[in-house]
Amino acid sequence: MVPWGGITCCFSAAALYLLGRSSGRDAEVLKSVTRVNQLKELAQLLDTASKVLPFVVTISGRVGSETPINCEYSGLRGVIVEETAEQHFLKHSDTGSWIQDSAMMLSMCKEVPWYLDDGTGRVFVIGARNATGLALTVGSEVFEESGRSLVRGTLDYLQGLKMLGVKRIERVLPTGTPLTVVGEVVKDDIGTIRIQRPYKGPFYVSHKTIDQLIANLGKWARWYKYASLGLTVFGVYLIAKNAFQYFMERRRHWELRKRVFAAAAKRPGQDNEVAKAEDGSDGTQKEGLMPDICVICLEQEYNSVFVPCGHMCCCMSCSSHLTNCPLCRRQIEQAVRTFRH
Ligand SMILES: [Zn+2]
Ligand SMILES: [Zn+2]
Repeated sequence: MVPWGGITCCFSAAALYLLGRSSGRDAEVLKSVTRVNQLKELAQLLDTASKVLPFVVTISGRVGSETPINCEYSGLRGVIVEETAEQHFLKHSDTGSWIQDSAMMLSMCKEVPWYLDDGTGRVFVIGARNATGLALTVGSEVFEESGRSLVRGTLDYLQGLKMLGVKRIERVLPTGTPLTVVGEVVKDDIGTIRIQRPYKGPFYVSHKTIDQLIANLGKWARWYKYASLGLTVFGVYLIAKNAFQYFMERRRHWELRKRVFAAAAKRPGQDNEVAKAEDGSDGTQKEGLMPDICVICLEQEYNSVFVPCGHMCCCMSCSSHLTNCPLCRRQIEQAVRTFRH
């Protein structure tokens, strides 16, 4: 039998190990990026370090924009606004009860050009929505109940649906939010400095400071490592247990066969021939030639099969005294009588 439990544990452990290693590596990369304390230094740094490509830095400042979006529902001013609307309804299930469900009706996102400002300079942030760590603030969450009318209600009922209402959520990146961005800085043709996803390397837009980001990644790396170690130990234990059980079963099997063959050899008549045939030519015991004797009493022919393991090795009268199969030690739920023609 293949020890699937153990193998699954070991594969999960390997996946966690890789995750941990990648988190640890990210933490190391974040430690090594250039920290820019004041945004006004960035232009100068770019000129001196422009030979290092990509030039990955970490900057912080407050979100700002020349053309911020005024949010419809929350009244906030933001630079990224995400709006979703979900239809909530009750659905008639096969069992006759009503279960609540929802479906996305609308999901849209608006973004205007925006920058980080720390009072000394500005850096435009490009492609922040695809960065790691960006969490938008929930500006408003409203539930608009469906209007009830007789016609609508009847139609809904015929379709097996009852409309409850629409939930509208507005998520915003408000202006003035303090953010840390890790990415590649570049200067475009007209001299504007912007920060974007490096071709290869980290791209973070986060409310956390760079030190908090590093500490977080380190924490996850350690957690993944311990979990991976624990799963490995458990997986190896399961595999070893399985191998031991397999070995013990083979041994029991072999001992029982020996006993059965010895008993068969002493018996007069036809069984003797089987024993001779088996002991004769090359001395090996062939699987198909096992005498039909009960492994317990060594006298009667076996005539029962155990459920659920399926082994046939005992007579009906010996079976009635057994709780576990003598070959595999699995519990016997039932012993069924067998007949031969
Ligand atoms: Zn018996
Ligand atoms: Zn069995």
